[in-house]
Amino acid sequence: MRKVAIVGAGQAGMPVAFGLLAQGYEVAIFTNRSPDDVRGGRVMSSQCMFAEALDVERRLGLNFWDDECPPVQGIGFALPNPDQPDTKAVDWSGRLDREAQATDQRVKMPYWLELFAQRGGKLIMEDVGVAELERITQEYDLTMLAAGKGEVVKLFERDDQRSMYDKPQRALALTYVHGLEPTPEYSRVSFNFIPGVGEYFVFPSLTLSGPCDIMVFEGVPGGPLDRFRDAKTPEAHLEQSVSFLREFLPWEGDRARNVELTDAQGYLSGAFPPTVRKPVLTLPSGRIVLGLGDAVVVNDPITGQGSNNAAKAAQVYLDSILQHGEGAFDRNWMQATFERYWDYANLVVRWTNSMLKPPTESSFALLTSAQQSPALAHFLANSFNHPPVLFPAWEDLNAAQALIEQTRSQSVAA
Ligand SMILES: Cc1cc2nc3c(=O)[nH]c(=O)nc-3n(C[C@H](O)[C@H](O)[C@H](O)COP(=O)(O)OP(=O)(O)OC[C@H]3O[C@@H](n4cnc5c(N)ncnc54)[C@H](O)[C@@H]3O)c2cc1C
Repeated sequence: MRKVAIVGAGQAGMPVAFGLLAQGYEVAIFTNRSPDDVRGGRVMSSQCMFAEALDVERRLGLNFWDDECPPVQGIGFALPNPDQPDTKAVDWSGRLDREAQATDQRVKMPYWLELFAQRGGKLIMEDVGVAELERITQEYDLTMLAAGKGEVVKLFERDDQRSMYDKPQRALALTYVHGLEPTPEYSRVSFNFIPGVGEYFVFPSLTLSGPCDIMVFEGVPGGPLDRFRDAKTPEAHLEQSVSFLREFLPWEGDRARNVELTDAQGYLSGAFPPTVRKPVLTLPSGRIVLGLGDAVVVNDPITGQGSNNAAKAAQVYLDSILQHGEGAFDRNWMQATFERYWDYANLVVRWTNSMLKPPTESSFALLTSAQQSPALAHFLANSFNHPPVLFPAWEDLNAAQALIEQTRSQSVAA
C-alpha cells in the first residue's frame, strides 16, 4: 500500500486526500488548525466556486452543501460613469449555464476533516516546518505541501519568470453579511470596477449561521479603498465597508442599507503578492516535496479563481498519482505533474494579473461591448468557469473584435 502525506487541509489538499483514500492508499493529513480551530476562526476567503471546480468535489462525493448553499446564477459587471459617479457607464450581466456556490470554508473544511478521519485517514495536528518535512518525507512515499499562504510555503523558490508581481497589488478585505438586498431576476457575483480606486464584488454564500452574502473589497494601495488597516473591531470594519459603498457605489450602498455582520469572525483584511513558485522543494537531506494549490500558484482574488484552481489542481495531481501506479515519485514526475496543471493555470494567472492593471484595448473592448450584446455578456460570465476560453481575445484586439462581431447576432437562451 502506497503512503502519501499531505501537509495542509484546504481546498487543494483535501480532495486529493479523499481521492487517494478511496483507492486504498494510506493517507495522512498534517495540519496546523483543528476542525474546531477552523470552525471557530476567522473567515479566510470568499471561495466562490464555478461548475467545473464543483464537479471535482461531486466526483469525489464531497458535495454536501448543494441543497443548502444559495446558488450563484450569474455574473454582473458595472463601471461608474467618471463624470457622474452615482450612475453607471457600463452595466451588463450574464447568466451562468451552471450555478456556482461559495460555501464558507469554516463550514466545509471541518466537516471534510472529520469525515476524513472517520473514513480511516490519519489526521495529525502539527505545525509543519523543515524538521517535520524531513521526518514526514522519510516515512511516506510521497509528500505534498498544500499549506496555502502559510509561512512554510516560502521554502519553495519563487519562479521569477512566471511571477509578474513582487508586491501586493491590492489591499484586500472581506465582509460576511446578513441582510443584503438580492439582485433582480437572478443571483450573481456583482463586480464593480472603479478605475484607480479598486474593485468591489459581492455574492451569496452559505456560512455558519445560514445563507449570507460576501462582500470583497480590492483597494489600490494608498487609495480610498485601502481603508481597512485601522478598522480593528468588527463594527469598525463593517462601517468602513458600508460607508465606502455609500460614497463610491451608491447602487451597492442601497442594497447594503440593512446589513449586519454574520458573526464576530466574519471579516478579514490583508494583502499578499500574487506569486508562482517552483513546485519541487529539496530539503537539506536531499529528499523532495511537491507543492500544490496556493503554496505554488497564488493569485489575487480579483477573478475569484483560487479555490477553483485548487480544486482543479487537486484533480490533476490525483490523476497523476493514480496513473503512476508503483512508479517512483521522483523530481521528473513531480515537475511533470505540476506542468500538467500549469498548462491550464498559466492562462488563469495571465487573466488575473491583467485585471490588476488598467485594461488593454482588447479587454476594454470586450468588457464594454458586452453591454450591447447579451451573447457576449453570457460568454464573459461563463468564462469564469473556464478562463482559458478568453484567450486569445482577452489579449489580442483582432481576436476580440472577431469575438464581438461573432456574438453580435447570436441570441441567448432564456
Ligand atoms: C480575500 C480572499 C478572497 C478569495 N475569494 C475567492 C473566491 O471568491 N473564489 C476562489 O476560487 N478563491 C478565492 N480565494 C482564494 C482561495 O481561498 C484559495 O486559493 C484556496 O483556499 C487555496 O486552497 P489551498 O488548499 O491551496 O490553501 P488553503 O485553503 O489556504 O489551505 C491551507 C491549509 O494549510 C494549513 N497550513 C498552513 N501552514 C501550515 C503549516 N506550517 N503546517 C501545517 N498546516 C499548515 C492551513 O491550516 C490550511 O489547512 C480568496 C482568497 C482571499 C484571500
